[in-house]
Amino acid sequence: MTQLQARDPRTGELDFQFEASSREDIERRANRLRAAGQDWQALGMDGRMAKLGELSDALSEHREAIAARLSVDTGRRAIAGREVDGVIGSIFGWLAQAPQLLPEGWNEGRNNPAIRHAPQFVPYSLVGVISPWNFPLTLSMIDTIPALLAGCTVMIKPSEVTPRFVDPVMAAIDAAGMSDVLTFVQGDGATGGALIDHVDAICFTGSVPTGRKVAAAAAGNMIPAFLELGGKDPLVVLESADIDKATDAALRGSVLSTGQACQSIERIYVARSIEETFLEVLIEKAKAVELNWPDIGRGHLGPIIFDKQADTLTAHIDDAVAKGARILTGGKVENHGGGKWLLPTILADATHEMAVMREETFGPVMPVMAFDAKEDAIRLANDTVFGLSAAVFAGTLDEAEAVGREIEAGAVSLNDAALTALFHEAEKHSFKASGMGGSRMGPAGFQRFLRRKALIANTGAPAPIGAFAEDAN
Ligand code: NAD
Repeated sequence: MTQLQARDPRTGELDFQFEASSREDIERRANRLRAAGQDWQALGMDGRMAKLGELSDALSEHREAIAARLSVDTGRRAIAGREVDGVIGSIFGWLAQAPQLLPEGWNEGRNNPAIRHAPQFVPYSLVGVISPWNFPLTLSMIDTIPALLAGCTVMIKPSEVTPRFVDPVMAAIDAAGMSDVLTFVQGDGATGGALIDHVDAICFTGSVPTGRKVAAAAAGNMIPAFLELGGKDPLVVLESADIDKATDAALRGSVLSTGQACQSIERIYVARSIEETFLEVLIEKAKAVELNWPDIGRGHLGPIIFDKQADTLTAHIDDAVAKGARILTGGKVENHGGGKWLLPTILADATHEMAVMREETFGPVMPVMAFDAKEDAIRLANDTVFGLSAAVFAGTLDEAEAVGREIEAGAVSLNDAALTALFHEAEKHSFKASGMGGSRMGPAGFQRFLRRKALIANTGAPAPIGAFAEDAN
């Protein structure tokens, strides 16, 4: 039995002990889920929609308890409540579109009208979900809800960095009478590895290095892996952009949740002619941003959730300064009461020699680089191994769209930033090293949990072997 400890990001104290699920435990639970999965599938779409409605009611009833635990896990209050509300909202969203998600009926064959075919959609029996620490509930449930709706059972392993929210969520799942088809296991990478060995498909959200391991393990087990990984999202601000709007979006897109979001703006390219004004306005707005310390009920930025992330932020800022960047705001990880915080950090004169422009920083850091021609901005935005998302600001949507179409990323926000955090209806892939597998957003986010089975019927006579004789015409 392995005991693990979790750190409170506001105090730095290791004050939460929990037990990691063993491989045997995961196997036992997987067997139970698979057995219950037959009844879950037999319920049909309508029956499952009704159960998911009960889950959303139960989550509403347990909202305060879940939000309170999430708040300790992540050191922030408002976003914790929004995570619970967001999951409840996503259940409603899926229920609203569920009836239109699957085509039905027989189709005539194109070449031989005597042959007809009909699709059958067969859910994976058991889907595994492995989630990271930055939005512990949201990223545990984002794939789970459509998988359940599709008829799969689900086993979730959240991050060992943020384990506290699991108990009240399990209480809600119990209250909805769904613990036979949806469960959590706790633990670190070893538990995640064991999970992959017991499921029929794996949804992973996390870093690129871990994603590579998950993809390799899934390939070894011949199961599909849906990977949503890190990013280095660029924001391109063209000369014609409205600077007030662009700075609002740049700041929010970069520092919301202390920059601990995969689709955060991580680098900013500004037309040289407006760079000075852009920086002035951005600095003024960044200076108004406050830490939620000492009062968690005030301010905008929570602590750095994962202790070691603070070292990455410091390393990226130091490297940038050593290579010629100027710190215009923030710039130093602050220790308060045992936790670690960073104020919005604007770095001017950034270049692609700096780690802060090439590696995922995952903090409230805004390196800014000037460009001369649009083509340069597009080339710089695409000069990355990542391709999660991006943003473009311009005076007109047409101009922003023209640049957006040239950017190699799975989603581009036009005249705003990081819209995929708020808007989940549009299908999107994660390009390059940022991911693999189908879209988690839009109807495809549901359909990827269903294997297509073809029923092919011949209304005429089957072909005899003679039709294939060497001398047949
Ligand atoms: P991580 O890769 O360190 O861990 C993610 C999860 O994987 C954790 O639950 C961890 O226990 C588990 N894990 C670790 N080793 C494993 C193994 N060998 N096999 C199976 N599971 C294993 O990521 P993190 O630090 O928790 O999260 C931050 C990262 O997540 C950032 O890179 C961020 O960009 C990314 N992220 C991506 C998205 C997206 O939608 N693309 C969303 C949020 C976060």
